[in-house]
Amino acid sequence: MPVKTAMSVPLLDLRAQYADIKAELDQAVHRVLESTRFIGGPEVAGLEEEVARYCRSAHAIGCASGTDALLLALRVLDIGPGDEVVTSAFSFFASAGTIANVGARPVFVDIDPRAFNLDPHRLEAAITPATKAVMPVHLFGQCCDLTAVQAVCDKHQLWLIEDAAQAIGSEWEGRRAGSVGDFGCFSFFPSKNLGGAGDGGMVTANDAARAERLRLLREHGSKPKYHHAIIGTNSRLDAIQAAILRVKLRHLDRWSEARARNAALYDRLFEGAHLVRPYHDPRTRHIYNQYVIRVRDRDGLRAHLTERGIGSEIYYPVPLHLQECFAPLGYRAGDMRESEEAAREVLALPIYPELTEEQIRYVAAAVRDFTDPV
Ligand SMILES: *Cc1c(COP(=O)(O)O)cnc(C)c1O
Repeated sequence: MPVKTAMSVPLLDLRAQYADIKAELDQAVHRVLESTRFIGGPEVAGLEEEVARYCRSAHAIGCASGTDALLLALRVLDIGPGDEVVTSAFSFFASAGTIANVGARPVFVDIDPRAFNLDPHRLEAAITPATKAVMPVHLFGQCCDLTAVQAVCDKHQLWLIEDAAQAIGSEWEGRRAGSVGDFGCFSFFPSKNLGGAGDGGMVTANDAARAERLRLLREHGSKPKYHHAIIGTNSRLDAIQAAILRVKLRHLDRWSEARARNAALYDRLFEGAHLVRPYHDPRTRHIYNQYVIRVRDRDGLRAHLTERGIGSEIYYPVPLHLQECFAPLGYRAGDMRESEEAAREVLALPIYPELTEEQIRYVAAAVRDFTDPV
């Protein structure tokens, strides 16, 4: 029997964001339409400069998606067949898919069950003579332990590629996501904290020569025009997306702070509840791309919330080492116990900046209605 819903709270409401900044966004899009500079040009260069500054990185190069950002970083470093890249077993598919797509072998490391990020204590055991790079993921908007990961990379002379797709503006001990590794890879997928009106991505780098090589790779390796010393691809960021993202970047800190405030309210409302609240490592600035709780009867809770008009999502139901496409890598159930348990228990609740206090209280009450003992 359907329950009468008091209100509806979607997982994400991009219309609320558009309503907030409609005039600025419309103006930016029209500016590009009038200019007819649809490829490259001042909007893309402007965004690259602003993102580099925001991420405290020397260089930033726009590209077609967060997935391409990872692919381009791997390709610049000449990582391919015969090489291994270590990454987290609990992430969005692209973290491992890109490694496989350049012909290298993804090697998975289990997570720290509190922060959901790659457990640095397990990292060294995954390194072999074939390891070329480590690609940690800053999951849900919270940086992994970059100090520990960087120390292992330095010791073994490995490249460090940060998958910062969910973590723009997040920090580890005062250092911005994407500014610590050899490359930082960002996504402007609409559901990220800085989301475009379509696909988009960015790579940050501190080394000028590697940044320049990546810039070439994203445009067929063409330099001078129609002369190709290296084989690249077409992976550009559209000028219209760049113009939209420049507007949104000006609001990003305000939005990330609103997400953190919403998280703090949930945290309070969930005090004493039979669920695990997200862990905020005090060494990080958490930007709460997602607010993820853990519960035993996760699927039951999700159905309960759906009935009450509340959006939720499972990020991610299958850890990467158990994905069907990676069966040839030879992993088995039980190999990454923390990732497997997380996949069974996690549930992301609405956390977007425009949520009202009333909505948050409604969601929290609905959660507790299910999890609190009667
Ligand atoms: C979103 C995401 C990506 C890929 O970004 P796209 O822009 O969708 O290609 C990569 N890694 C992680 C962790 C992500 O969340």
